[in-house]
Amino acid sequence: MSNSTNAGAILTIDLGALKQNYLTLADHLSTGELAAVVKANAYGLGVQESATALHAAGCTIFFVATVDEGIALRAILPKATIYIFHGVLPDTGEELIAHSLIPILNSLDQINDWHPHRAQPAGIHLDTGMSRLGLSPQECEQCVALLTDYNIDLVMSHLACAETENHPKNEVQLDLFNALKQVIPAKHASIAASSGIYLGADYQIDLCRAGVALYGVNPIPAETNPMAQVVRLQAKILQTRSVDTPQTVGYGATHQATKPTKIATLAIGYADGYMRSLSNSGTAFIGDFEVPVVGRVSMDLTTVDVTDVPVALLKPGSLVDLIGPNNPIDKIADQASTIGYEILTGLGSRFERRYLSAEV
Ligand SMILES: *Cc1c(COP(=O)(O)O)cnc(C)c1O
Repeated sequence: MSNSTNAGAILTIDLGALKQNYLTLADHLSTGELAAVVKANAYGLGVQESATALHAAGCTIFFVATVDEGIALRAILPKATIYIFHGVLPDTGEELIAHSLIPILNSLDQINDWHPHRAQPAGIHLDTGMSRLGLSPQECEQCVALLTDYNIDLVMSHLACAETENHPKNEVQLDLFNALKQVIPAKHASIAASSGIYLGADYQIDLCRAGVALYGVNPIPAETNPMAQVVRLQAKILQTRSVDTPQTVGYGATHQATKPTKIATLAIGYADGYMRSLSNSGTAFIGDFEVPVVGRVSMDLTTVDVTDVPVALLKPGSLVDLIGPNNPIDKIADQASTIGYEILTGLGSRFERRYLSAEV
């Protein structure tokens, strides 16, 4: 593919891989249906392109966080079922209904705010151990009478430790959820997100809400990643230079050359979401050559040690993989001491974004 773009870096999003991941997860379900979570602009990858590809893969149920995200998604997918995790805030009820968006009611206040619209479908979030959103078990009992004339379409809960298969909290939350959904009957029930899908059929009840795995992050960190890689991030070499001891590289002089070394300076930095915590810890690839980040990542520039790379690969404008076949998101996240979610949602806006066609 041609590098001819003014942008210093290219973000390639493989919509075929995205569709394949939807199908991989759907295949893994022994029961229930697979919904896609496309909040935060589809985890930074572009909701227009991502939701269209997921819909083409067969997805008809979507979750977003905010009303505005729901309105944007409604314009893309006029017929999809769209749930809003944040629920209803005072004064947003009319807008939810105008766009056929289904709020997940998270508190007694939200249930009250929805009262004028109670004939319209809504979900209820039951808190089973996150202590973030959702009704406590006691509140569930309290609102049973109130909810009798509501149109409750979905009850859901969220797992705190799903990526750790043997974590005792998983079963505690599932048992509590199964008990609470007897108290508040609904058409559908949902507890699993990406990792929960891999906890077995008991967790797959009814509707699974896959987010990060669709975008290529490993939902089962202890095992080989079953997902296809969706994202590739490449930055251009701006220049190379030779340094030797006692020269240092970058702000704070945190890297000192100990021998004759060749440094390449790349047109990407923390303003692009290439996180500063990758300073002196990240690795990139030039072809099959692994090159360590040396010195601090700065706002627009990153320096890598290319001493062992053939000069033919080091021309100005040559592309270096920051995220690529040899360095998946999970690896970069580890090197940055964070999680794939933060790498994806932090991807910046200065890249040229290229979407590979959605054909599977
Ligand atoms: C973001 C979110 C999801 C999706 O989680 P992943 O781990 O990305 O699959 C599911 N449910 C809720 C409540 C969420 O906030």
